[in-house]
Amino acid sequence: MPAALAPRLTSILACPRCGSLLEPGSSTIQCSKCGSEFRVEQGVPIFVAEDVVVAREHTSNPLGAEFEEILRQGNDFVLNIGAGGTAERYPNCIEFEHKIFRHTDVVGDAHHLPFRDATFDRVFAFNVFEHLADPKAAAQEIYRVLKPGGGIAIHTAFLQPLHEAPHHFYNATEYGVRLWFAAFEIENCRVSGNFGPGVMLAFLTSQVLDSARLGGISAEEEKLVSESTIGEWADFWNTRGELPPGFGALQALPEPMQKRVAAGFELLARKPLATGQTNR
Ligand SMILES: [Zn+2]
Repeated sequence: MPAALAPRLTSILACPRCGSLLEPGSSTIQCSKCGSEFRVEQGVPIFVAEDVVVAREHTSNPLGAEFEEILRQGNDFVLNIGAGGTAERYPNCIEFEHKIFRHTDVVGDAHHLPFRDATFDRVFAFNVFEHLADPKAAAQEIYRVLKPGGGIAIHTAFLQPLHEAPHHFYNATEYGVRLWFAAFEIENCRVSGNFGPGVMLAFLTSQVLDSARLGGISAEEEKLVSESTIGEWADFWNTRGELPPGFGALQALPEPMQKRVAAGFELLARKPLATGQTNR
């Protein structure tokens, strides 16, 4: 019997490399087919190679009332990807993370979920997808571990400044989100309250001012920017007339600060000269 592993996990885990059943031991788990071995730390199976950070004190933002209610009712078996540090542990929810938070059940990679096919009634992934290198692959994995008819709830970034760098890869439009989840029957893709235009403006302006300060803007220019009005910036955009207060100072910020809050990027690249050895 696995001394360290929670019993509710043993019936749902599968090898993230080959999908086969796992044989839990006391301090490691082994794949019955490919022989891959995974460690167990503090009772949490670890399906990533790198060292895992333990962050038991951290508390994340709550999921939102309707989702907490689903967990509280406990009728559905839920996988919460990127659960973070939850305030409460629900017996019917598996918390999946890349660190060990207070209630983390499994540490792994969302691109290779270590669960058997058709295991969950619901999958939640809040503020996860912008941080995934291959969102489509992760969406496929969610599809695989869901029972037929099972539901998903996804929150992901659109007009958000850089956060959790360098693990922030994509800000998606509605159409991008729909594309990632095209295999699902999409019931609705809406703006939840935590993502409304007011929140967007607050987050963006806060990060613009923060970047300006970190970028060494003068106190005088900082005052100009923070006392400028949204109307002044909008007028400039619409008429290309008078520059809004502090415009020049923001445009002149050091590159790393601009990258946190830029409208986009210019990429210049080149095909390597020698393709021999790496070419397949
Ligand atoms: Zn395997």
